[in-house]
Amino acid sequence: MDGRVRDVEQLSAALTQHEDQYLWDADATLEAATAYEAAALGLGDERLATRARLLQANMLMRKGEVSGAAQRIWKIHQWATEHGDHLVQARTHLVWANIHRHLGDAAQSLEHSLLAVELLDDTATDHMRVWHRAKLADALGAAGSMDAARDQYAQAEELAVRLGLPQLLMGMLNNYAYTEFATGEHARAEAVAQRLQDVAAEYGFVLDPAVLDTIGAIEIENGNYTQAEETLRLAVARHHDGRYEDADSLAEFMLTLARAQRFLGATDRAQVSLDKSRALCLERELGDVLVRVHQEQAELHAARGEYADAFAVHKEFFAAHNALHSSQREAQARTRQAMFETTEARREAERFREQARRDPLTGLRNRRYLDEQLPALVADGGSLTVAIVDLDHFKRINDQLSHEVGDQVLVLVAKLLETELAAVAPEGFVARMGGEEFLLALPGTDVPQATDQLDGIRRAISSYDWTALTHGLPVTVSIGVAGLSDAAAATQSGLMSTADRNLYVAKHAGRNQVVAGSRDRRAGSYRNGANAA
Ligand code: GH3
Ligand code: MG
Ligand code: MG
Repeated sequence: MDGRVRDVEQLSAALTQHEDQYLWDADATLEAATAYEAAALGLGDERLATRARLLQANMLMRKGEVSGAAQRIWKIHQWATEHGDHLVQARTHLVWANIHRHLGDAAQSLEHSLLAVELLDDTATDHMRVWHRAKLADALGAAGSMDAARDQYAQAEELAVRLGLPQLLMGMLNNYAYTEFATGEHARAEAVAQRLQDVAAEYGFVLDPAVLDTIGAIEIENGNYTQAEETLRLAVARHHDGRYEDADSLAEFMLTLARAQRFLGATDRAQVSLDKSRALCLERELGDVLVRVHQEQAELHAARGEYADAFAVHKEFFAAHNALHSSQREAQARTRQAMFETTEARREAERFREQARRDPLTGLRNRRYLDEQLPALVADGGSLTVAIVDLDHFKRINDQLSHEVGDQVLVLVAKLLETELAAVAPEGFVARMGGEEFLLALPGTDVPQATDQLDGIRRAISSYDWTALTHGLPVTVSIGVAGLSDAAAATQSGLMSTADRNLYVAKHAGRNQVVAGSRDRRAGSYRNGANAA
């Protein structure tokens, strides 16, 4: 047992380390997460398995397999919600927000980002406290609410400083600068980029190339072209250092560099940088960067006064731009459809599950439900009482009136049983066992108390005004009771056979009565209301 606890703790710590990361190697992490899931299942720990699955979904999304991620997220969300696990819920909503962002749905992304912050409680890690707020700020910015975004960035920044998380501080400042830049707030973007560089200097961090690319782009917009060229050359050089695996981003850096060089008037240097970017795009099929390469090429032709070329390339850009956007829209629509289908399939399965556990005539629970629920109630060991309720001389109703009337009587009896039971034992339930026989379960109720309540139910049925339906034929029930506290009925089968035997006694004693007690002390012990009218 001790060893297992230690294994669970170790696995949990290993997972946290991956979860609380700011940049991932998606392939390696996906592989690790798959191994963690297997280990968690080996330990029989559902929560750890769920966390491992969430990590997988996150990595799939980062690898661009958005629909794979979207399909997994539902089940994870369902588990976390059912278990009221705020930490897993909050992390799930953050991944979900990213999925929606990839699908171009800013409103949904914002909604999930909000939940990812609202669900932070004292189970959340420091990393989550900072990062979830920073991501909410990103989503607010993308949805056009810059004031609210700045509020959240400020909170995230303050927390990152106070909790001593400089890496996250760098990450969030980078996003903050980019959000201001994308909104067209170039002066504000510059100020944030400056803070970013100050933090890097203070902690001795080397700015990674992607951050330099953002800074360079901001410098271009602010007219600092010489500075921008220098910044972007540094981004390219750092990329070549090989510490940064993501080769795709080199095409982006080369493109931004070409832009800075064009503005400087260095069109030859700009053409060299742009050619490098184009070659990378073609080699790696980077469609969205290539579209912007065409655009920059048109600008470069125009800067050299080559207007015919500029126009021709511009047309190329325009066609590529449209093709890219329609294929992106198609991919997004396909993923949304896949997500919708999994939701629908899940709902369908739930509906089916529910239906399969209901009796179609009365709408009550059926025997299948009973077979699933009763073992847990028995195992619970509390003071559970069950009662078998059987209609008296029901055959007469069928024979003298009709089968249809019989059905209506069954439906009404079911309704009476349900409302009467709900009034005295809200935790309990009624099931139709078959034919004109019902089972009532009263958890947390001992036999003497249940017997009184059941006798009230019996009287409610016999005193109901049945004349409109049965034209004078009485409708009564006999009830056999058994309690878990009776030694003879301490198992499920013991419980059922004692109730059955007591029902038999009630029938033979004249019907319309409740009989309780185990065999040895039955003699009148809990007998109630024989032949009440
Ligand atoms: P007792 O007081 O001894 O229980 O007599 P009873 O007539 O109620 O018992 P018996 O077991 O002889 O007959 C039960 C009848 O219930 C027989 C069957 O036709 C009828 N029944 C079973 N299921 C349904 C149903 O779904 N609808 C209708 N209308 N009748 C049903
Ligand atoms: Mg019967
Ligand atoms: Mg009967």
